[in-house]
Amino acid sequence: MALNGKTAVITGSNSGIGLGIAWEMAKAGANVVLNSFTDRDEDHAIAEEIAKETGVTARYIKADMSDGEECRALIEKSGVCDILINNAGIQNVDPIEKFPTEKWDAVIAINMSSSFHTTAAALPMMRKAGWGRVINIASAHGLTASPYKSAYVAAKHGVVGMTKVVALETAEEPITANAICPGYVLTPLVEKQIPDTMKEYNMDRETVVRDILLARQPSKEFATVEQLGGVAIFLASDAAAQITGTTISVDGGWTAL
Ligand code: NAD
Repeated sequence: MALNGKTAVITGSNSGIGLGIAWEMAKAGANVVLNSFTDRDEDHAIAEEIAKETGVTARYIKADMSDGEECRALIEKSGVCDILINNAGIQNVDPIEKFPTEKWDAVIAINMSSSFHTTAAALPMMRKAGWGRVINIASAHGLTASPYKSAYVAAKHGVVGMTKVVALETAEEPITANAICPGYVLTPLVEKQIPDTMKEYNMDRETVVRDILLARQPSKEFATVEQLGGVAIFLASDAAAQITGTTISVDGGWTAL
């Protein structure tokens, strides 16, 4: 299969988009390293299920992406990292004057600085292997803004900028760096925002989904984790060898508006 013999390390992958990408990568033949900050039986069970269903090697490694040393340790413990998918992320929704500083720090650390640390640790491995792919899961909020998401928008714009820098620093090598910018995908991260948004706008769930979440997504449909996995596999393919330093939007037309 397309990615046989490659190893993909996916941060924040016991849920949502990261887990969906891990499944698609494994189905395409890549060994996968899953990650989150917990160390529960169910985390390891996900890796076992992926290995059993697809025949690849799948491991779960606990590492807290809010801690730079743990980010680097994740890559070291993985042993090999051909495809790095920086996906771990959290959200906090508050007007800027009420935005708790500790939430700002956590969003910036997990959504942005973690990618700096993992990429710094992974590039030497990619150079040694003579091939590599850095795929950052940014967001439509890496290209546009929304109110009440100051830390998230800042972090995602930062990720898009860093993606360009990594691409330039590896431009003459068989390594690429790109960012995928999803619009809304119905994952636990989005589910968690719905009650706050209902409260903020005094709306019911259905109205929040249609008029707030998908207001800027002209397709009026959520993107799926399988679609994001497909785009990641494309970016890891030979067809994408000259695609570097750019963003690919999977947002139902959001950024065309
Ligand atoms: P999710 O909450 O389902 O998954 C987030 C993952 O990150 C989980 O596996 C969680 O355990 C992990 N994580 C959180 N804090 C961590 C930490 N400190 N250390 C290690 N792992 C940690 O959310 P999701 O929607 O799947 O989001 C995944 C990525 O996609 C995020 O970067 C998010 O910003 C981005 N994204 C999501 C959407 C969307 O609509 N869902 C849209 C655009 C971008």
